Amino acid sequence: MSLTVLMNAGPWLSVPPPGYGGIENVVATLVPELRRLGVRVVLASVGSSTLPVDERVSVFPDGQFAALQRPYNQVCGISQAHLSGVVRELHARDDIDLVHDHVEAVGLATLAAMGPDAPAVLHTLHWDLAKHPALYGNLDGGDRVRVNGVSASQLARAPQALRDHSVGHVHLSTPLAVGADRRPTPVKGDHVVILGRINPGKGQDVGARLAHRAGFRLVLAGPVGPYHRPEDLTAAGDEARQNPDARFFLDEVAPYVDGDRVRWLGTVAGQERDDLLAGARASLFPLRWEEPGGTAVVESLALGTPVVATARGCLPELVEHGRTGLLTADEEELGDLVREASLVDPAECRREAALRFTPEVMAQRYVALYEHVRRTAAARRLQAA
Ligand code: UDP
Repeated sequence: MSLTVLMNAGPWLSVPPPGYGGIENVVATLVPELRRLGVRVVLASVGSSTLPVDERVSVFPDGQFAALQRPYNQVCGISQAHLSGVVRELHARDDIDLVHDHVEAVGLATLAAMGPDAPAVLHTLHWDLAKHPALYGNLDGGDRVRVNGVSASQLARAPQALRDHSVGHVHLSTPLAVGADRRPTPVKGDHVVILGRINPGKGQDVGARLAHRAGFRLVLAGPVGPYHRPEDLTAAGDEARQNPDARFFLDEVAPYVDGDRVRWLGTVAGQERDDLLAGARASLFPLRWEEPGGTAVVESLALGTPVVATARGCLPELVEHGRTGLLTADEEELGDLVREASLVDPAECRREAALRFTPEVMAQRYVALYEHVRRTAAARRLQAA
């Protein structure tokens, strides 16, 4: 296949990311599979990215994520500067068949404004689509700019103008799903885990309250705002309260954290994260928002850990109630479901992940979308000529 894709990962973190980094992780998972399928990849990222690709474009030497803590008027030029670099590159060459863009709002707006002769664009929507109503509600990318979601439920809630540009959804994947069906089931401990950013939408306060009420051991893993270790949050003192997620943790979750029934580990990574998840008897998602993509959900399945969750957002698409997890509309019922999680077969979870959530499955789906987007853009260009 001769297809050259400019993969726009943005200016915030290197690829692969040094720690937490949802979008950069997706790009790091997708690109090697695309290249295996014969796609040439030009990565637009920051200079410190180490992912093997065919060519690189960057404006910033390294990730600008730390700047996101600053006020808007000090930050708002960063993604624009990165996009200006991408646009300059697109003007300077004619071998880019398609731009696969992951930069929230600014990527879509800039690439859509480039005019009919620019390359076709597929912009992946990784976030909650209730955001940016003025941009999404008035989007006009013609047949050249298309979007895809990371779940059907996410797209179903999008404004009509955005849905008019949609080519469907591609579920997230995890390298842990490769060969997951051939791995033995790990020995399960007695803990339940909530893996993810500590945030009201992810509902750690609900999980912690239920742990005390229903009597299960709960381990919370994930950052609280910019704080990755409990000691960093403690050291920040009152200053931490400037961050809304830190306020949420201190006021709503910390009162339940007793170091025994409920523990907060901070961010866990690599083998430690995988062992924690694989050894859990369930992973809990007491969601209070419509989870758009759910990487941690597919990771849990890949490691053979049943998912117990509020049936919101993408959860019913990723988890089959009774077979790979237990879902409920009623958060109070989650405590009972944690008790019943042992009825779900871990091998079935791993089989499902190996079938549906591998990087290869995701890359094949994206290649099909690239071809579709290119074809429709080219047909429109011919019509206009
Ligand atoms: N994660 C991690 N360590 C933690 C907490 C989370 O590595 O302590 C990872 C988790 O494994 C997953 C990602 O962060 O890959 C969270 O992605 P998800 O889509 O579940 O949530 P998001 O934060 O993108 O809304």
